[in-house]
Amino acid sequence: MKYSNLGKTGIAVSRLCFGTLTIGPLQARLSLEEGASLLVEAFDNGINFFDTAEIYLNYDYIRNAFKGVNPKPVVATKSYAYKASTMEQSLSRALKEMALEVIDIFLLHEQESEKTIRGHYEALEYLIRAKEKGYVRAVGISCHTVSAVEGALKYPEIEIIHPLFNRRGIGIRDGTPRQMLEAVEKAVERDIGIYAMKPLGGGHLIQEAEKALQFVLSQNSIHSVAVGMQSREELLFNQAIFSGSPVPEDVRTGLQHKSRRIVVQDWCRGCGECTQHCPQGALTVAKDKAVVNGDLCIFCGYCGRYCDELCIKIF
Ligand code: SF4
Ligand code: SF4
Repeated sequence: MKYSNLGKTGIAVSRLCFGTLTIGPLQARLSLEEGASLLVEAFDNGINFFDTAEIYLNYDYIRNAFKGVNPKPVVATKSYAYKASTMEQSLSRALKEMALEVIDIFLLHEQESEKTIRGHYEALEYLIRAKEKGYVRAVGISCHTVSAVEGALKYPEIEIIHPLFNRRGIGIRDGTPRQMLEAVEKAVERDIGIYAMKPLGGGHLIQEAEKALQFVLSQNSIHSVAVGMQSREELLFNQAIFSGSPVPEDVRTGLQHKSRRIVVQDWCRGCGECTQHCPQGALTVAKDKAVVNGDLCIFCGYCGRYCDELCIKIF
């Protein structure tokens, strides 16, 4: 496994970051034991960087995986909080539920522009104070837009950016991969640490996974790449690519027919709540039922969390 420094933070991470959204209740719904053991196997194989978020509802997997481990791996999490009081709750929940004494990286979740960062500034200030007290090591933002990366450059406090990036630009809401890369390069010039997300477009690029991962890996301005994994085969496949080793044939064959899909169950009553929370604008209600636009959906699973009827499932 190869490692890099995340900008000026002093945090050294494996270039392959384990994106944990995929193991938890919003996606694969692995049992606590199965999920934690996949994380442990990744850690034992040299992956020292794990990305989560409050919305993923999977802090218990991380706690179970790393409870006896010292030193702990690098853990990044994120919250939608925009006030100091709610960010305080988010930080306290993350520390408690993952049984950590410090959160290495705490991000404002899914920022869209300079304006949204400004709107969350009270929460960012809270994180900076928490950093001074030793509860957080580095702060930043995650985003699906070029505008947010550019907006972050106006805030010297931001040390990490976690942007969506893949070779086809799937999920980048306001630009092309080239434009995203240009914005990221400006951030790197300012010593900001970059770890990208969704190199496989949330699953759309699974059939060209090797090429898609190589493309993101070949960008010098991207220090690490969070890849969502939910099985041992996916872990071994990604490890091989990121280590520059050949992918074992049985692993390649096992993944050949893999694809992600989203299903809205028949009992959807068309209330529309889920449509309010899709970051991609991929959900509408038609004929009293939620409908997913397959071209826009990036299989993030966020919508499922807002459906009281548990109608939305990602497989
Ligand atoms: S999927 Fe759930 S939240 Fe969305 S419209 Fe149907 S019932 Fe409402
Ligand atoms: S429809 Fe659901 S899974 Fe797809 S992008 Fe929107 S929130 Fe994510």
